[in-house]
Amino acid sequence: MTNLLTVDDLQVHFFTDSGVVRAVDGISYSVESGKTLAIVGESGSGKSVNALAIMGLVPEPGRILQGSVRFQDEDLVGMAESKLRRIRGNRIAMIFQDPLTSLNPVFSIGNQIAEVIRNHQGGTKKQALVRAIEMMELVEIPRAAERAGDFPHQFSGGMRQRVVIAMAIAMSPALLIADEPTTALDVTVQAQILQLLTTLQKEFGMAMILITHDLGLVAEHSDDVAVMYAGKIVEGSGVEDIYYRPQHPYTLGLMSSVTRLDKEPEGRLKPIRGAPPSLINVPSGCSFHPRCDYVQPQCQTDSPALQVRTADAGHLAACHFAGQLPEPKEAAK
Ligand code: SF4
Repeated sequence: MTNLLTVDDLQVHFFTDSGVVRAVDGISYSVESGKTLAIVGESGSGKSVNALAIMGLVPEPGRILQGSVRFQDEDLVGMAESKLRRIRGNRIAMIFQDPLTSLNPVFSIGNQIAEVIRNHQGGTKKQALVRAIEMMELVEIPRAAERAGDFPHQFSGGMRQRVVIAMAIAMSPALLIADEPTTALDVTVQAQILQLLTTLQKEFGMAMILITHDLGLVAEHSDDVAVMYAGKIVEGSGVEDIYYRPQHPYTLGLMSSVTRLDKEPEGRLKPIRGAPPSLINVPSGCSFHPRCDYVQPQCQTDSPALQVRTADAGHLAACHFAGQLPEPKEAAK
């Protein structure tokens, strides 16, 4: 299987009046054609900035300081804006948490989807509208022909997200980036939207980057997982390794704070203590050490590299004690 996207040593910092925010601090990963990579972490871990960097949309005062983002053998970093805009419009699509940011309130849903189709495929307005209604049916919007004339405010949050997905798929992208696509929705609708994304991803043979704070969501909907903390990837592997054999204490913490459908609950869900660090003042050594139940003196000074640390080939972890964690501290038990 070939890599569609390869991110190498990407570093994105924001130069603010309060200091340098190290939002993405030297991350590397790849996404294979037709596969889904989930990027998981709490808010402020850098996962969304990473997505904006792929799209060439890092806002001021942010800058890509180093690294490359190779997509279909072209480096998107430093690419001319006009060329990048063509790639964004055709080969890479992105959907956001709030579908309203992608929809124009004064145009009907049918016209908005048709406009994307015309930009992508050409044809008449009438042909594009017929295709737009087909796309609405594909994303399972009931009474699509009737509803094509409705405006965004006449749709529920879940239906609006389906519209945005239809617009994204209409471009037949090779890569779809979904940034917290279900966070604003209630639990039942979340499951339906994720299932829809997975079905379409397989049907269209797209690769997908699924960005989420909820590790519980990724089991059924991804092939590989990268866990981000404080601007870095701290664990990366196939979804089963991460789900059944997590090695990094941060991933263990994320696992014990989500409901798992495959296991009897072993007591109350346990959130990770403390809060993610400021990305202006990232802790020394292992950046997770102030919150880690397994912290040792070495962790406060030595930064652990992301590498294979156990017999699980391809399972990377940035923890000095991955695979041989010491006893948790008394207070953490
Ligand atoms: Fe915890 Fe130390 Fe591992 Fe960091 S290196 S995750 S502080 S045990």
